[in-house]
Amino acid sequence: MTKEIKRIDGRKSNQLRPMMAKVGVIPNADGSAMFAFGDTVAIAAVYGPRKLHPQHMQDPSTGVLRCTYDLLSFSVEDRKKPGPSRRSQEISKVTGWALEPIIDLGAFPNTVIDVQVYILQADAGTRTAGINAASMALAHAGIPMRDLVCSVAVGKQDKDFVVDLTKEEEDFKEGEGATDFAIAKLAGSDEFSLLQLDGKIRPEEINEVLKLASESCKEIYEVQKKALKEAVSQK
Ligand code: UDP
Repeated sequence: MTKEIKRIDGRKSNQLRPMMAKVGVIPNADGSAMFAFGDTVAIAAVYGPRKLHPQHMQDPSTGVLRCTYDLLSFSVEDRKKPGPSRRSQEISKVTGWALEPIIDLGAFPNTVIDVQVYILQADAGTRTAGINAASMALAHAGIPMRDLVCSVAVGKQDKDFVVDLTKEEEDFKEGEGATDFAIAKLAGSDEFSLLQLDGKIRPEEINEVLKLASESCKEIYEVQKKALKEAVSQK
């Protein structure tokens, strides 16, 4: 049963922000999608598979998934200096880790699949919204995938776990302190492809957190599927 707690924006602990998803938002890309959790808006574009250059980087046994994540300068309140940062490099990496298990890269030797994720507007949860958008964009690009990836962050409000935190909630550091746990899960199985914890969670709490995230992922999956179906029916 969901415990009734008071969140800043009045949501229940297991309630996601309103989601919005659309596929095919960048016509020049091989695949593209947008995904929003409330005021957090991500777009993803997929290019490839195409020959990897420089040639010495090519691997005849596999393709390479190359993910790039960044915030647009005016996506955040204090303008973000353009160009890569430690944060954007880290999130690019974890986005790749979250997506790699669903793609059979062995089918694309010597190639690269580029996934570019940009955050148009940020109100926390940007890496999770970006992963949701990228997963849809890969499917839209026709890359053979064994599943879709769904992603959500679980955090703590005092002692209670809540899903899909806003920036205001993330900054709430009272009680047990700020906790932000970004989770990505394969939609059709119990496999998790990303568990990135910032903060503290007790070992005995992990199951509760993963259950919360799994329930949210079911809702996210429905939104992703609907957007992909709409794109197919418009072709
Ligand atoms: N943020 C910001 N400026 C920055 C980086 C982040 O204002 O340079 C905000 C933004 O709203 C972001 C939030 O801080 O969504 C939380 O960032 P975090 O690194 O925890 O990753 P996220 O929750 O977005 O995946």
